[in-house]
Amino acid sequence: MQARAGLKPVVIAPLEGGQLQGKGVLVENFPGVAGVTGPAIVFDMRKQAAEFGTRFLEEKVTTIDADATGKSFIVTTEKHQVVAHTIILATGADSRWLGVAGEYQYRGGGVSSCATCDGFLFRDKPVVVIGGGDTAMEDALVLARTSSVVTVLHRRDSFRASHILAQRVLEHPNIQVKWNTTVVSFDGSNTTDGEPMLSSVKVRNVNTLEEEDLAVEGAFVAIGHDPNTKYMKEGLLDMDQGGNVITQPDTCKTSVPGVFAAGDVADRVYRQAITSAGSGAMAALDAERWLRESGLTF
Ligand code: NAP
Repeated sequence: MQARAGLKPVVIAPLEGGQLQGKGVLVENFPGVAGVTGPAIVFDMRKQAAEFGTRFLEEKVTTIDADATGKSFIVTTEKHQVVAHTIILATGADSRWLGVAGEYQYRGGGVSSCATCDGFLFRDKPVVVIGGGDTAMEDALVLARTSSVVTVLHRRDSFRASHILAQRVLEHPNIQVKWNTTVVSFDGSNTTDGEPMLSSVKVRNVNTLEEEDLAVEGAFVAIGHDPNTKYMKEGLLDMDQGGNVITQPDTCKTSVPGVFAAGDVADRVYRQAITSAGSGAMAALDAERWLRESGLTF
């Protein structure tokens, strides 16, 4: 969008990409897109942007700082420094993982961190959701629409989630809760094609230390997200307690003039590919307007 406005945008990001790039299943909730995977959408997005003159630097950003004049920003990567008049932060957020045995192995083969994206794969099958916050409640409610039984595994004896969401979960006929329960391991085997496939989750009651195997094909880890903001010089931008960049209402402006934020790095609530794409377009419009009003366009 910025290249179309006659600007000279540089997209700095390592090739491994973000959440959409890592999504091997079909994307069903991006308007106008059908029968296409995440990487295919990212490929088309890059192609489209490149055709309008966007340049790509396939490197990881290590720091961002303001220069001495305070009118430009210095973006440092592993190999280069880029000086820019304006920056759009769109570095997303990483799902937190439990770090237990089998979790990494079965990711994409039954273990997921996105019920909205992958829940439909477990139609009429039993699944577990791990966590006790709003995300876990929402995931359980989404999954209860299609899965046969949803078991929420929570490490304590009460939910952290908002009362209304917690009540909905507790009252739902297809959802059961195992309190004081932690995951010991995710277990399964390989399909004939050699793909790992989850078949059970070993859980432990933290009071009795009793363990049991729950037969499930889907397990949704919903224990929070960490926004990717560690590369930012400390104190440069206002962030909330969870590390999300704070944007001003109805804009993508951050607390620093000339720096804008889009997508999950600033979004605690929606976190979908389409909402991120929308806020990316908003940030591009904000940035272009800011450059114009600051007399920095030619
Ligand atoms: P969260 O509120 O931080 O909750 C994370 C949950 O995971 C907690 O119940 C926590 O247990 C549990 N947990 C964390 N680490 C764990 C571990 N290693 N093993 C087992 N359990 C673990 O995260 P969230 O639910 O993603 O919500 C993040 C923010 O977004 C919140 O402010 C939330 O209100 C907001 N949000 C809002 C909505 C909405 O308004 N519709 C929807 C989703 C999220 P403990 O409780 O024991 O700490």
